[in-house]
Amino acid sequence: MGTKGIEILKVDATEVVELLNKALADEWLAYYQYWIGAKVVTGPMKDAVVVELNEHAADELRHAEMLVPRIIQLGGTPILKPEDWYKFTNCGYAAPDDPVVSKILEQNIHGEQCAIDVYNKIIDIVKDKDLVTYNIVAQILQDEIEHEDDLQGLADDLKVMKSDSCSCS
Ligand code: FE
Ligand code: FE
Ligand code: MG
Repeated sequence: MGTKGIEILKVDATEVVELLNKALADEWLAYYQYWIGAKVVTGPMKDAVVVELNEHAADELRHAEMLVPRIIQLGGTPILKPEDWYKFTNCGYAAPDDPVVSKILEQNIHGEQCAIDVYNKIIDIVKDKDLVTYNIVAQILQDEIEHEDDLQGLADDLKVMKSDSCSCS
C-alpha cells in the first residue's frame, strides 16, 4: 500500500487484514450456502424464497469483492485456497441437509445474525482509526441487516400461511 495510506492508520494493518480475511472466508461460505440452498430448497413459498436466496448469494459475492482490494491495499494477502475458508471462518457453514423452506430460512437467519456480530465488532475496532475500512464494513453491515430482516419476513409469512391453510395440529 502507499506509504502515506499506511501512515495515517491508527490501528495495526496486520490486525485489520486478519479481521478482513476472516470476514472474506465467511462471505464465500455464505455465498455457497445461499447459492446451493436456492437450488435444493423445497416446500411452501419456494419460489419467493429462491428469489431472495439468489439475491443474497449475489450480495455475499459482492461483499467478498469489496473486502479483497482493501486487504491488498493494507499489504495483506487475501485467502488463496478454499480450504482456508474453514480455517478462518467466524460463522461457519450450514449445509442444507434438510432443504425444507423453514429449515433453510432458519439456517440463513442464523448466518446473518453471526455476520451482523462480526461486522459490528470490526466497526468497533476501526472506527476513528481506519476510515477506509470503516466505510467498506459499514456498507456491508447495512446489507447484512437487510438480509436478516428479509429472511425473518419470509419466515413470518410462512408461519401465517401455515396457520391459515391448515387446521391440523
Ligand atoms: Fe455478506
Ligand atoms: Fe448476508
Ligand atoms: Mg434481500
